[in-house]
Amino acid sequence: MASLRLDIVTPDKLVLGREVDYVGAPGLEGEFGVLPGHIPLLAALTAGRLFYKADGRTNWVFVSGGFAEVSGDKVTILAESAEEADKIDFDRAEQALRRAQERVESKASDIDMYRAQLALARAVARLSLRGR
Ligand code: ATP
Repeated sequence: MASLRLDIVTPDKLVLGREVDYVGAPGLEGEFGVLPGHIPLLAALTAGRLFYKADGRTNWVFVSGGFAEVSGDKVTILAESAEEADKIDFDRAEQALRRAQERVESKASDIDMYRAQLALARAVARLSLRGR
């Protein structure tokens, strides 16, 4: 069967590098899918859930946003942070969610609201992968 090479890269490490059959990625303008033979593509990602199919299974990965580059039969995801679902620390994500919610709800003028909203979106996306 034709396959795709999926690499998920963050500044610290290669989070994932494997042959897969399909990738579903959280594009800024909605989810998009990549099959082998896809046209070249560069797309911005939002904080959310990426999934890939391999060996008859669907696997989930948190990505913090970033970029997806599709070229030939290779998909490269560049993200500030990314974790496979089974590597997510959900207690930490719950704490991050609470902190971000307090910041978003606070009226304090020294809060960077955009940054707080991004942190909130990361926490919500991580928590949505519980059980996956
Ligand atoms: P926190 O406030 O808990 O650090 P964050 O969303 O600000 O959350 P990031 O900036 O996305 O964190 O990530 C910083 C580093 O910590 C990255 O290496 C990321 O993979 C890791 N990380 C953050 N949250 C988690 C989590 N809940 N489970 C596993 N790794 C995490």
